[in-house]
Amino acid sequence: MNAFQFNVVGTIESPYKQKFAIPRQPGLIPEARGKLILVPPYAENDIIRGIESFSHLWLVFVFHETADKGWSPLVRPPRLGGNARKGVFATRATFRPNPIGLSVVKLEKVYRQQDKLILELSGIDLLDGTPILDIKPYLPYADALPNASGGFADSAPQTMMTVSFSEHAMDFCQAQTAYPDLAILIEKVLKQDPRPSYKKQRTTEQHYGMSLYQFNIKWTVNGEHNHVTEISQLP
Ligand code: SAM
Repeated sequence: MNAFQFNVVGTIESPYKQKFAIPRQPGLIPEARGKLILVPPYAENDIIRGIESFSHLWLVFVFHETADKGWSPLVRPPRLGGNARKGVFATRATFRPNPIGLSVVKLEKVYRQQDKLILELSGIDLLDGTPILDIKPYLPYADALPNASGGFADSAPQTMMTVSFSEHAMDFCQAQTAYPDLAILIEKVLKQDPRPSYKKQRTTEQHYGMSLYQFNIKWTVNGEHNHVTEISQLP
């Protein structure tokens, strides 16, 4: 048996509406909250009985946005500036023989909404609509290995980027009472410098845009500084 078929047990609702600007691993932005919506026949209370006693969960998911782009044995990890090539199995790249991802996330809350069972999560690195194949509890005694070697990604990425907001952008964030963490989420996303490696060398002012939740965020980059110029509601 060389091929298997799996069922999607649920789908992610995420503030990240496009791949650009999603952190490269979970936990880097704790304010990134999302929901895992389990649908019938996996929305039974029994299926998650006992889950609340775990603080974190492993999610096994499909890189659905890039799944049809195939895979390659060598990839260029952004961590290495996008130039050095590494074997795909020596990386967490999305272009894999089986487009399967693995993320550990924090479990915040579990509740029901009609026939849906919802797991509220934080620290996610998942695109909106990501299909989930499996959920497993994170077991610190087995999964946390403080002496393990992290190869070329031995510690969380560090950047020196700073972030400021125009008065309009900050007022817009403060008016979004349903999204009290909007400004801090934007700040943390920009601090990790989401630009592709080849654009990081540029010295002239650059203009960027991204979607978070239902908002369109525009900013400029000058050296090591991001300035959020404008935020608007997406149509
Ligand atoms: N933590 C996971 C892992 O190790 O398997 C994902 C690591 S991968 C390097 C992280 C990137 O996957 C994010 O920056 C985002 O751009 C991308 N991503 C997240 N959800 C995706 C999806 N559903 N389809 C395609 N790409 C996705």
